[in-house]
Amino acid sequence: MTEPIEFIDPLSDEEGADQAADLFRSAYGQEPQGVWASPGRVNLIGEHTDYNAGLCLPIALPHRTFVAIRPRADTTVRVVSTLSPDSVTTADLDGLQARGVKGWAAYPVGVAWALRKAGYSQVTGFDAAFASCVPLGSGLSSSAAMTCSTALGLDGVFGLGKGDSDEGRLALIDAAIDSENNMAGASTGGLDQSASLRCREGHALLLDFRPGLTAQQSAHQEACDFSKYGLELLVLDTQAQHALNDGQYLSRRQACENAARLLGVDNLREVADEVNESADPASALEEVLAKLPDDVTRRRVRHVITEIGRVPQFVDAFARGDMEQAGRLMDASGDSLRYDYEVTVPELDTAVEVARSCGALGARMTGGGFGGSIIALVKEGTGRQVAQKIADAFAQKGFHAPRALSAVASASGHRVR
Ligand code: ADP
Ligand code: MG
Repeated sequence: MTEPIEFIDPLSDEEGADQAADLFRSAYGQEPQGVWASPGRVNLIGEHTDYNAGLCLPIALPHRTFVAIRPRADTTVRVVSTLSPDSVTTADLDGLQARGVKGWAAYPVGVAWALRKAGYSQVTGFDAAFASCVPLGSGLSSSAAMTCSTALGLDGVFGLGKGDSDEGRLALIDAAIDSENNMAGASTGGLDQSASLRCREGHALLLDFRPGLTAQQSAHQEACDFSKYGLELLVLDTQAQHALNDGQYLSRRQACENAARLLGVDNLREVADEVNESADPASALEEVLAKLPDDVTRRRVRHVITEIGRVPQFVDAFARGDMEQAGRLMDASGDSLRYDYEVTVPELDTAVEVARSCGALGARMTGGGFGGSIIALVKEGTGRQVAQKIADAFAQKGFHAPRALSAVASASGHRVR
């Protein structure tokens, strides 16, 4: 028998705000002006589609990153995290260039840098202390939880007035994306930051990444209550190494950009809509693939096109309460990521296989891949059992012990104190 699998409980408003504020006081000897929190996310379906102008369907997790902030009159930024409470990192916004901050501090400092670059000159230096229960590097977007909580905090302390409306939040999302891409150097397509700042409790967020859409056109709230159907969503973090900035993610993006160029379109979404909306999608897909030069490119494109097609089908199945069909679409997405997009690792494959053999309606890897987490739609009350079965299989194979959490569709970021 293996050790009982660890379940990660979310921090309440009170606990999270206390942890961040306590760290703030001990690091800086002052009171923070306020505490903001923003969640990690889990994507139900629509993976590696955001940078192809496609569709995806995340929910916000109840697991959040909390930041206690106090503005400064100069351009100095100081940040500290409960992960290394004795080490304060300092940076200066004045004259700061892209990639000018190293380590995790790049994420929060980059948000202020991006906001100033975007013309919000009222943003100056600040002191910040972070506390989080979002697992790091697990494909659940601890990075977006950090950049988005920072963006909300800066919006609050510098009075930008962007955090109060969904439309205003787009400016904060852009700054969070800019920070991750250009200060932290971790390529991101925007799904994570949109989820963290636009999701609604009890809803999944149907995001459309076609360029030129208004705020309203780019997001739709879809009711999402697993328990209504006697189900729960298990998230299992494989704890397998995941390094999005090791080039694999970028190479997938480049393969898609190349393919779009070869097909004479701006992005693969244009082809995906043509294929998925045609009378005979299977032959339409074959016709497109026949124009591509090699098997690898064909499989990458097949993933993107079919995955974009699965998102509205999933939304439709969910809305009709056809959870069997929703589960089948999750499985199809998972298989496509494994065999066509090739972004899984043995830990993800094992976790998915065990979840399916335990009767999950659907199971697939979620997030960027190359490690990270899986999701499984299982009968309510059986999440722990399924997670334990996966942990047992991991122990047998000599993998790192996984951990788990139970996901319910939660609210986007907001001020908590
Ligand atoms: P994910 O977003 O899936 O968790 P990423 O690799 O995109 O994985 O982001 C993880 C990185 O974000 C960490 O390596 C660290 O640099 C930073 N980070 C996130 N949360 C925290 C935190 N609470 N304290 C310090 N750094 C953090
Ligand atoms: Mg991330």
